[in-house]
Amino acid sequence: MRKYPIIEIFTSINGEGTRAGELATFIRLKGCNLHCSYCDTRYACEEDASCTWMTIKEILAQVTTKNVTLTGGEPLLAEGIEELLEALRDYSVEIETNGSRSINLNLSYRPIFTLDYKLPSSGMEEFMNTDNYKYLQPCDVIKFVSGSTADLEKMWEITKTYDLVSKCHVYISPVFGAIEPADIVEFMKEHQMEGVRLQLQLHKFIWAPNKKGV
Ligand code: SF4
Repeated sequence: MRKYPIIEIFTSINGEGTRAGELATFIRLKGCNLHCSYCDTRYACEEDASCTWMTIKEILAQVTTKNVTLTGGEPLLAEGIEELLEALRDYSVEIETNGSRSINLNLSYRPIFTLDYKLPSSGMEEFMNTDNYKYLQPCDVIKFVSGSTADLEKMWEITKTYDLVSKCHVYISPVFGAIEPADIVEFMKEHQMEGVRLQLQLHKFIWAPNKKGV
């Protein structure tokens, strides 16, 4: 029977995305193919990270809310991820993905995707899969985690090149401690970024910024 490498399953509020502030069960899968400079979940990424191998039945037994968010690491790396997603089809499923993997999955329903675009300061921009943008739906989010003015400039270039505002939600999220949210607002005003939203990660304000399982 297939098992999945689970770092943690917990219930909390969504810290970001269109369901920010709503309760959700988070399923954090082990492993990531990127190495972002600002990663705050390295404990889920390393090869020797400790995890629990769980069956679908065992995972479902820990789901306590209608909203379910798959996260990581990079959840789309997990072998058999489509099988797990099918088992979750009666829930409202969101997948937080790093933007390097295809979101064109073979499923009987369409989850919501929150798709990162890794900007220059992440060091991972070369791995972005912009082919994904043809599969975007209005419920999806493209999230630009920005840590500098150069990041914001690139964010705006990508947004315009792929006409992202007309396809889905477009969020800018500051790298915590690297850039002042007020400076992002100034940049948004200067560039008349209509339809783009600044988003602060709620859990970084409610709990200590590095607290796990919240
Ligand atoms: S994609 Fe996410 S989990 Fe992976 S290294 Fe980057 S920030 Fe960390």
